[in-house]
Amino acid sequence: MNIFKPANSIEKDTPESKYFVINSNQILSFKNENFLRPLSSDELNWSGLDIKRKHFLGHLNNEPCFVVSAEGECSLDQVHFSDLRSMLGRIPDDLFSVISRAIQIQHWFDAHKFCGYCGSELKEDANERAMICSNCNAPPAYPKISPCVITLIHRDDEILLAHNVNFPDNFFSTLAGFIEPGESVESALVREVQEEVGINVKNIRYFGSQSWPFPSQLMLGYFAEFSSGEIKPDLEEIDEAAWFKLNNLPNTPPSNISISGKLIEYYVKENS
Ligand SMILES: [Zn+2]
Repeated sequence: MNIFKPANSIEKDTPESKYFVINSNQILSFKNENFLRPLSSDELNWSGLDIKRKHFLGHLNNEPCFVVSAEGECSLDQVHFSDLRSMLGRIPDDLFSVISRAIQIQHWFDAHKFCGYCGSELKEDANERAMICSNCNAPPAYPKISPCVITLIHRDDEILLAHNVNFPDNFFSTLAGFIEPGESVESALVREVQEEVGINVKNIRYFGSQSWPFPSQLMLGYFAEFSSGEIKPDLEEIDEAAWFKLNNLPNTPPSNISISGKLIEYYVKENS
């Protein structure tokens, strides 16, 4: 069991430190191991990689844990860099949070090189995780997350699932969308459902949340009961949506990977 405690202090490496290695949004893993894991200090030293930057993430099993951006050839056996999305099924549950954090901290750092107010180069703050401008009074740039609402709509023994235009055929999921500036989660939920499938919902019930580092979403999962209206897909994002009986569901996201799958699994268990 891995236990991760995030922290923002600046920590030094130790021989027991652990490292997640990233190169251009791809993460290093071992081809001959089922699950993604961090490198040990020795492995990183022997990798021959050109290390560009190291960010402290927190403590993994009480040892300092870092994300490292690196370039060049890796001389360790059986390793490759791959897109994190393609690795989703190979991330152990108890490492998801630290890997999500690794990706997002690196992405934040890469995306905050210059001041958005005056265009000067940003520098790292010595005391906290923030990028600061030494030329103007711009507020510090902290890592940001983007909240999204994700909703399973139900009507007795049926749930509403939708096919996104980018999904493979015969693959359906719950509805999701970004929360707009000024909105509450609940009003965003009602608006997204109305926009995407044209129906109204009631009795909104919170389920749980999940970090989703593509690149920096926080998914807030809800159940909502059907209230009124006819299904009308928006045909931009959603090209098909329908009610499905709980005992006759189409292909849906696996529950070990996404909160969408968890919402569906929970509702089916609770109502079968
Ligand atoms: Zn500035």
